[in-house]
Amino acid sequence: MEALVLEKAHELSLRDIQIPETLGPHDVRIALHTVGVCGSDVHYYDTGAIGQFVVREPMVLGHEAAGTIIEVGSDVQGLKVGDRVCMEPGIPDPNSKATRLGIYNLDPAVRFWATPPVHGVLRPTVVHPAAFTFKLPDNVSFAEGAMVEPLAVGMHGANKAQIKPGDLAVVIGAGPIGMVTLLSALAGGCSRVVIADVQQPKLDLAATLGPVTPVNVAQENLTDVVMKLTDGWGADIVFEASGNAKAAAGVFEPLCPAGRVVFIGIPGQPIAFDVSAAQVKEARIENVFRYAHVYPRAIALMGSGLLDVKPLITNTFGFEDSIAAFDFALHMPPDSVKVQITLPQ
Ligand code: ZN
Repeated sequence: MEALVLEKAHELSLRDIQIPETLGPHDVRIALHTVGVCGSDVHYYDTGAIGQFVVREPMVLGHEAAGTIIEVGSDVQGLKVGDRVCMEPGIPDPNSKATRLGIYNLDPAVRFWATPPVHGVLRPTVVHPAAFTFKLPDNVSFAEGAMVEPLAVGMHGANKAQIKPGDLAVVIGAGPIGMVTLLSALAGGCSRVVIADVQQPKLDLAATLGPVTPVNVAQENLTDVVMKLTDGWGADIVFEASGNAKAAAGVFEPLCPAGRVVFIGIPGQPIAFDVSAAQVKEARIENVFRYAHVYPRAIALMGSGLLDVKPLITNTFGFEDSIAAFDFALHMPPDSVKVQITLPQ
């Protein structure tokens, strides 16, 4: 089948590749419709590796996906040919200790699309377990369906924060993950989100998404703005979604006493961590790695209209222009958030 193949760092080709797949009794076969371009895909393109994961053999990119079921395994229930679906890209070992504990995202044996050596889904079809395939409501488009994957990261962060109705949250970083974290925080009951970034067009977009206070940290001090909004008390929650070492080191400054910090962005380097700054506020610190058991709730929020990801989808390319899409994403203009690729149907 024709797929977008990362041959090695800086070398993509749209070419035929053999991917042997058999449909098991609990699997479905899906014709891909829309695949989002994730920061991780772009990072593999740019450097050929993310931490311990190194691209050693040609690998198909893409893991944020929605499509239509074209074949159903003999034991599959609740899904049928023609269903519009989105898919969870990480498949754990169903018998592992992590999976049995319900923390399947932390299973060391998890196989995740477009994480070496597992192929991604910028290709016409894929076989996938039905248990990790979710039906989309009629009013949720394929493009929105392909946004469930990044949204799930923000929703997992919101779960970890244990939001209480009326909380004020800070989100550091207005990239795709910062934006979906903002949406998840509002859907989870926050009364206001203060979002910080240095790219003004992204902040302007964020300001249209609800009760949001944008802070351009090139011009304004984030902690000053938060303290002013909260009569000097601080934010209930700080979500770190930038991965920026300096920003991540400052998360305790705008935080209220006994507040919660959730680290979502992955810093490229180890960051200095001020334990005493956390101690004096008795900060509760949580970390996010992907997500678990979030898709049905994310899809339900989209279907009910309480959470709208459409404004985040800023650029769409055809499958034949996939390489151009990746070059665009590599040098993302400040007014772009999410790039998606549409496959021929
Ligand atoms: Zn992603």
